[in-house]
Amino acid sequence: MSEAVPMIDVRGVRKSFGPLEVLRGVDLRVRAGEVAAVLGPSGSGKSTLLRTINRLERADGGWVSIDGELIGYRRSRGRLHELRERDVLRQRTHIGFVFQDFNLFPHLTALENLVEAPVSALRRPRGQAERTARALLERVGLADKAGAYPRQLSGGQQQRVAIARALALEPKVLLFDEPTSALDPELVGEVLDVIKDLAASGTTMVVVTHEIGFAREVADTVVFMDGGVVVEQGPPAAVLNDPRHPRTRAFLAKVL
Ligand code: ADP
Ligand code: MG
Repeated sequence: MSEAVPMIDVRGVRKSFGPLEVLRGVDLRVRAGEVAAVLGPSGSGKSTLLRTINRLERADGGWVSIDGELIGYRRSRGRLHELRERDVLRQRTHIGFVFQDFNLFPHLTALENLVEAPVSALRRPRGQAERTARALLERVGLADKAGAYPRQLSGGQQQRVAIARALALEPKVLLFDEPTSALDPELVGEVLDVIKDLAASGTTMVVVTHEIGFAREVADTVVFMDGGVVVEQGPPAAVLNDPRHPRTRAFLAKVL
């Protein structure tokens, strides 16, 4: 990929819910293989931004492109045309999403959770999908839990299954929305370790998190959002140790 085209490119994205303006012109660029950690107070629009990137929400203005491909639109004769739902679904398979509350299918085993989408969305042969799923469960340290149902797993184990499930679609990028916020403190580390391992192997990721230590250690860029805009973005040392903006300082003073 050329340096000129970021893997994730968000430009001027706006989104309102009724009268509430939640995203007020968000710009974000993440290069291939980089990790962006998004921090910010509750209600600042972090989840809405992630949901707009993978088109769970449709932006009112601005655009998002992943690996040079515009999300939700195609260009034809210089004009933009909205994609049909099934083309949006195809695009979404390239954008892995990991939710705060895991969102596993409760009636499927860990292995079946990983096999479902590759078979139904990508038309992979089941045998091949199962081999990939077992390798991914091994990668997140859960090779022995292939036959377990979500309710039989700890929160940390469920979240690791959810990460493996996102990887099963071979996404170009992974989006995490507060992946450790629903976990008991002693289970946070095992999930962050999996995300660190993905970062080390060059996965492009956006991680909304309150784990400042994790952001400092793993992120290439830290993004501070407040009031529906990116207030400040830069290397972790700059944003976390020497924030420029008073709102970033006020936020960090509360959480550090
Ligand atoms: P964050 O993740 O930073 O806490 P969110 O993106 O979840 O913030 O929410 C930003 C604001 O948008 C909040 O005020 C929230 O109540 C509102 N909001 C989010 N989703 C919806 C929705 N589907 N309908 C109406 N309001 C919403
Ligand atoms: Mg949120």
